[in-house]
Amino acid sequence: MGGLNPPPVLVATRSVHKLREIRDLLADLPVRLLGPVELGLPEREEEEELEPFETFALNALSKAKYFHGRSGLPVLADDSGLCVDALDGGPGVRTRRFAPAEWADRWGRDEANNRWLLERLAGVAEGDRDAHYRCAVALTDDLRHEVVEGVARGRIVRASRGEGGFGYDPLFVPAGYDRTYAELPEAVKMETSHRSTALRRARGWIETHVVRSRGGRI
Ligand code: IMP
Repeated sequence: MGGLNPPPVLVATRSVHKLREIRDLLADLPVRLLGPVELGLPEREEEEELEPFETFALNALSKAKYFHGRSGLPVLADDSGLCVDALDGGPGVRTRRFAPAEWADRWGRDEANNRWLLERLAGVAEGDRDAHYRCAVALTDDLRHEVVEGVARGRIVRASRGEGGFGYDPLFVPAGYDRTYAELPEAVKMETSHRSTALRRARGWIETHVVRSRGGRI
């Protein structure tokens, strides 16, 4: 009976939103996608230092290697963020800590980041508000690693709209639509997002190095 147990993959994120999206997007793969909490890995202060690099790819790889070291399991790590043309591509790899700490203490991180972004773009004209989300997904096990990326293009609106998604989604209208990811049906984000594109590219690695190499057994 044990032979039918799908092999585990640690999803190296403390974000319940990312974990849920990644699970939904890979739901059909015969693997168990487990978060650090489910594996009994308590959050440590050193995790705050895992993203010191200037590219999403290097930061994703850094997280993947760290969590592989703690678990010994194959790991999938996501590093992602928002790049705004009018901010010369910022906040980029600093997306999570974009707003000052005092704002984050006052509003909570996501709300503070959104307010901060709207303020930075207050004088920016409608046609100059292009932005894109970028996501790097790093995959690693004992023997090898790979990083794949995805991008979702769009623009930043002038006020928060909608209840869905997370993070900057109430401000981000994907190209080809006139509603934000937080207003659109969830299926649209699942189909078009930076994360969905990156994960489509990650499937082959998981199928080859986790599903087939373990023969579906643990
Ligand atoms: P990370 O945890 O260092 O990768 O930080 C990701 C940052 O980008 C956080 O501020 C997230 O809220 C934001 N972010 C990443 N992906 C998304 C998304 O799909 N929607 C909205 N915000 C996102």
